[in-house]
Amino acid sequence: MTAPTLPLSARRRIPVPDRARLTGEQRHGTACVWCAVVLSPETAADLGHRPYTTPSVDYVLTWWPRGCRACVAARAPLPVDTATMRAMARQALDVDLPAAVAASLAVMYRGMLRELVPAVRDAVDDLPYEHTDRRAAEADVHRALGDLDHRPRGPGAEAAHALRLAHALLVLTDRLDQSTPGRTSAVPGTPT
Ligand SMILES: [Zn+2]
Repeated sequence: MTAPTLPLSARRRIPVPDRARLTGEQRHGTACVWCAVVLSPETAADLGHRPYTTPSVDYVLTWWPRGCRACVAARAPLPVDTATMRAMARQALDVDLPAAVAASLAVMYRGMLRELVPAVRDAVDDLPYEHTDRRAAEADVHRALGDLDHRPRGPGAEAAHALRLAHALLVLTDRLDQSTPGRTSAVPGTPT
């Protein structure tokens, strides 16, 4: 029985130990880069290709570290708290926001969106590229990245920008909840 593993997009983001300090087996992906246990096809999890340099050559080389499932699972990203994010996003949907409040909300929303974007990508990473849910998720992520790049200028721009980021948060938290089995989009305390 093979234990479920993280999607590759998430495994690629896990920092791995310095290659120079590892054994030959670890460098060649036949042993776990963390605990050095010898890996089999059933126990190994690929961590994606990683760049490295060595004094003997003047260009960047690539290696393919692998980990055992236990070590990879221990380094999995924490689940994103979509219910709290949604509640925070609703603060920008309220009334007339003073510019200073809007600006501080926008800072918070940016941090949340940077956490959500990789989580949404991870949630659809195992789907085929042409899958409707994957394409929809990528379109949502693309729009959210555009909103993250935007820099508000001029009077009233702060509040409009906070509102835009809040909408992106609501879209991505819904997307994440829909794409993650066992998650529910209901906020605790709201009637269903
Ligand atoms: Zn290990």
